[in-house]
Amino acid sequence: MAKAKYVYQFGGGVAETSVTSKDILGGKGSGLMEMTKIGLPVPAGFTIGIPACEEYYKSGRKLPKAIVEEVKIALAKLEKTVGKKLGDSKDPLLVSVRSGAARSMPGMLETILNLGLNDKSVEGLAAKTDNPRFAYDSYRRFIQMYSTTAMGLSKEPMEEMLSDMKKKLGVKNDTDLKADDLKKLCDEFKAFYKSKKGQEFPQEPVQQLWGAIDAVFDSWEADKSVTYRRVEKITDLKGTAVNVVQMVYGNKGDTSGTGVCFTRDPNSGENVFYGDCLINAQGEDVVAGIRTPMKLIELATKLPKAYKQLCEVRKTLEKNFKEMQDLEFTIEDEKLYMLQCRTGKRLPAAAFRMAVDMVNEGLITKEEAIARITPEQVEGVFYPIIDVASVGPARLKEIKLATGIDAVPGAAAGKLMFNAADAEEETKKGAKVILIRRETSPEDVGGMFAAQGILTATGGKTSHAAVVARGWGKCCIVGCEALDIDDKAKTLKVAGRTFRQGDEVTLNGTTGEVFAGALPLKKPEQTKEFKTLLSWCDQIRTLKVRTNADTPYDAQKAVELGAEGIGLCRTEHMFFKDFKVPENSEKRQLAIQEMIIADDVEARKKALAKLLPFQQGDFEGIFEAMNGKPVTIRLIDPPLHEFTPKDEAGVNKLAKITGMSPDHIRMRCDQLHESNPMLGHRGCRLCITYPEILDMQVTAIIQAAVNMEKKGIKVLPEIMIPLTIDKKEFKILADQTRGVADPIIKKAGSKVAYMVGTMIEIPRAALLADEIAEEAEFFSCGTNDLTQMTLGLSRDDAGRFLPDYVKSEKEGGKAIFAQDPFVSLDQHGVGKLVKMAIELGRSTRKGLKVGICGEHGGEARSVKFCHAVGMNYVSCSPFRVPIARLAAAQAVIEDKAAAKAAKKASGAKATGAKKPSSAKPKSAKKANTKAERKASGAKKPAAKKAAPAKGGAKKPSSAKPKIAKKGKK
Ligand code: PEP
Ligand code: MG
Repeated sequence: MAKAKYVYQFGGGVAETSVTSKDILGGKGSGLMEMTKIGLPVPAGFTIGIPACEEYYKSGRKLPKAIVEEVKIALAKLEKTVGKKLGDSKDPLLVSVRSGAARSMPGMLETILNLGLNDKSVEGLAAKTDNPRFAYDSYRRFIQMYSTTAMGLSKEPMEEMLSDMKKKLGVKNDTDLKADDLKKLCDEFKAFYKSKKGQEFPQEPVQQLWGAIDAVFDSWEADKSVTYRRVEKITDLKGTAVNVVQMVYGNKGDTSGTGVCFTRDPNSGENVFYGDCLINAQGEDVVAGIRTPMKLIELATKLPKAYKQLCEVRKTLEKNFKEMQDLEFTIEDEKLYMLQCRTGKRLPAAAFRMAVDMVNEGLITKEEAIARITPEQVEGVFYPIIDVASVGPARLKEIKLATGIDAVPGAAAGKLMFNAADAEEETKKGAKVILIRRETSPEDVGGMFAAQGILTATGGKTSHAAVVARGWGKCCIVGCEALDIDDKAKTLKVAGRTFRQGDEVTLNGTTGEVFAGALPLKKPEQTKEFKTLLSWCDQIRTLKVRTNADTPYDAQKAVELGAEGIGLCRTEHMFFKDFKVPENSEKRQLAIQEMIIADDVEARKKALAKLLPFQQGDFEGIFEAMNGKPVTIRLIDPPLHEFTPKDEAGVNKLAKITGMSPDHIRMRCDQLHESNPMLGHRGCRLCITYPEILDMQVTAIIQAAVNMEKKGIKVLPEIMIPLTIDKKEFKILADQTRGVADPIIKKAGSKVAYMVGTMIEIPRAALLADEIAEEAEFFSCGTNDLTQMTLGLSRDDAGRFLPDYVKSEKEGGKAIFAQDPFVSLDQHGVGKLVKMAIELGRSTRKGLKVGICGEHGGEARSVKFCHAVGMNYVSCSPFRVPIARLAAAQAVIEDKAAAKAAKKASGAKATGAKKPSSAKPKSAKKANTKAERKASGAKKPAAKKAAPAKGGAKKPSSAKPKIAKKGKK
């Protein structure tokens, strides 16, 4: 077996290896190797690969002997290539020792420059370059960096010594210090080092080198690096490489300099050369911002020869990498050296512009453009962000109050309001408000809508507040347990401060942080390139994308963002807010409350009759907005107690309109109490007990459909039964649905076609999906509840302890899940049930239409899973529709790449290659139900259709409702 290789050499125009994999060489090493290969001016050096970092940790933070030997050989070769020796007292080789992970981790890992200097070689360098100032400047930098990075001293004392010296000499810039000053500073630094470490500053260059290599490897596991990887979701990286590279000097005088630049503008995406540089400086001066750099273009006049060369490098690199590159360069005595190239970070809108421009320039294909956009960049195009530059990171740190769970991204600033009514009131007066609650419930929906952002002390990412806010793309932080909220006194205690109603705060929903005061926000915009790229996604994806929308406004917004239908309309969300005529909201609330506390069927029917016109009107608006696109409407779902009056005033109002006594109403509300409401009387269980609710809702849906059809609007309703657990249960309700719908259609002489299907959100339904599919015309996977019930974890409360399951061991967690299963589908467990339900369902109903409407439907990884298991569509909140469109297209591209790789691996023969997961089940393409056939114009039925039952509904039991008060959805 070939001996493992850990160290790779480059220099003198020769790259030792054809390997340029970032997984082995890291980003920086890979860039240096590639630039050497394509003939760009790169200083000589070697890369100790990432596998060496893994070995270092396996051996208890020690480099195994074999790797030590390889490094020694590489160093000898480097010395030979350069013609200088490390530590030589006359003409020393100096090196930089830099980190480099497979993905960029800016500022997280360590770097040491000018290594190889000591009390003797600094003199040699001064003599050789005839530039003592430069030599001592390099030495003082090295002592500073080495002491803090490799030897653990804090940065501040030496920084202070430097600025004290400038003050004492009355100079402003580091460059104003003379050789003697710098020499003195080196002595001060070394004395300080000795006072802290009890020994002299290391003088032996090889010892310095080993110390620096260890320091870079150690920085991989430093707290900030571990946190960064978790936040950036790059926890699968294996380690960092170490790059040991011959030093070149930008601080040799006015014909030298250094700079950082981008091959295109990372802020706007424009195809212009963009960057900063400094004359007579080393790299960290630009990055650290100690001197104000000049614009890159100024180099054209200051050092024209080098600038011209740099422009050539820019062209070569873009042609080679077909990506915007972030470059570091140094000019030493007018000669250009490239120190780094990597794919540059960019603002979201710039990412779209660059991708689309590069396609138009013929640099990349549309598929490549799609593949390089991230879900975060799509989000970044929608949501406002805090203008960090104008606030300053230090100030932000000072005013931070707490961190909660980042439920909906973006930022919002406004006055704190402690209840929904106040939030609505204050908004009417023109104020911007933040609604703060311990938790939200459906009756808060008006205030939530009015608020700029929502902040709750409890709840997780699929709690009521999160789901509703996501639907509106509204910044939301939940589970912020540090908040001590007193609703009555309208005060918030947090971080040792007390806030009252009207005091201002700012939320950062992307990070979950809460800040005191109203901070300035920046609003991004959707550019034409954003639209172009998404239209390319639509051309290649096979998975349809629908939206979860409850109002005509949301539906309209979602269509603008590319939704191809509604996959979930939660009818109960309409019970609390009239979005068209806000004054009617109270009437709706009272009608639903009257229905809930009704003592008998007749009273309930009377209340339902009041709700009917509201629901019908809403559905008409939604059908109109969707104009021929399918609309899945779910019948009532949450436990009834969620709708009961929550205070005395509410009870009294209800007493007035029902004629019941307040005591009787309170008693009826108490009866609604359930110990475990999420597993209680909710979903289709409600319509089994109170069939008249189903009668009203189906009447509203079908009557609305018939009315809209008469107006010439195409309608395609899909009536969805929630939380089904059994075929018979579903059949009873489906038969009843048809029993209500068909006569309305017939009476109107209408041709409206509809479907009746179910949600798969209880494990038993997934297990018995073949039976249920005999009756159900479509499935929609409700993965919020399916996750809750499969894992046995409350979607409202699990946020408190789930971080322990998700965080790495290093961060104090147990890393049981890679992601929060309520955010990214637990493909291993819940996904298995989903896959099984689809397969079982299609075994009895060929071509069964299947979608997903849980929150996972707008999360990129989960969307790719849905594509892989052959779903027909995903459905998500309007603002996540573009993410789903992107992810669905990327899934097709990834399939193609996997198929290509498999074909290559099996010797150009496609057989045996992994069948691409996009292989669209035939079922997905066929119209199999009456309604679908009508919509698609297909003729032949693809599956046996259940005969509608007449009238259907079992006579409602007049048993008094067992009514509850605790728990919410
Ligand atoms: C679900 O459970 O996934 C779902 C969409 O329904 P809800 O979130 O309304 O319970
Ligand atoms: Mg559900």
